[in-house]
Amino acid sequence: SKPIVAIVGRPNVGKSTLFNALAGENISIVKDTPGVTRDRIYADVEWLNMTFTLIDTGGIEPDTSDVILAQMREQAQIAIDTADVIIFMTDVRQGLVDSDSKVADMLRRSGKPVVLVVNKVDSFVKMMADVYEFYNLGIGDPVPVSANAKLGIGDMLDIVTEHF
Ligand code: GDP
Ligand code: MG
Repeated sequence: SKPIVAIVGRPNVGKSTLFNALAGENISIVKDTPGVTRDRIYADVEWLNMTFTLIDTGGIEPDTSDVILAQMREQAQIAIDTADVIIFMTDVRQGLVDSDSKVADMLRRSGKPVVLVVNKVDSFVKMMADVYEFYNLGIGDPVPVSANAKLGIGDMLDIVTEHF
């Protein structure tokens, strides 16, 4: 069966923007019990001669940092349980945040392949210096992308699909 790739990361880092850019029209939604787990959104994505299933775990807008961290842990656990490769998305404009480090630790301990994606790098020339701090997460080389501008997406997919 097809490899599964899950996108996890803080609210507003751009997970759904990346998902929509890759998914085109081939989207399905799996509804979960309200308040227990959040809806998962699936799409089949083709890259070169490969097809994989991409999962976006989005949801309600959290209001406190405690709730954000709890949701991120839940997302990460879903990804660890179901995915073959995990895209961990961060935001170069927000920089490295404490909850990023906590979830990175959890992902590292899982032993699953993780691709560290740094989003909102809308100018590779002007913003690349800001990408390097993400090496401090200790989960590998940060991969710069702009989901909005569709920059770096091909290189990111090459790295993701190398893990299949
Ligand atoms: P999610 O909560 O992680 O799913 O984030 P969304 O995909 O909903 O995006 C949150 C916000 O970030 C939206 O306003 C997007 O337009 C914006 N965004 C997403 N990708 C980029 C990007 O590459 N550059 C910039 N500047 N903004 C982005
Ligand atoms: Mg979303």
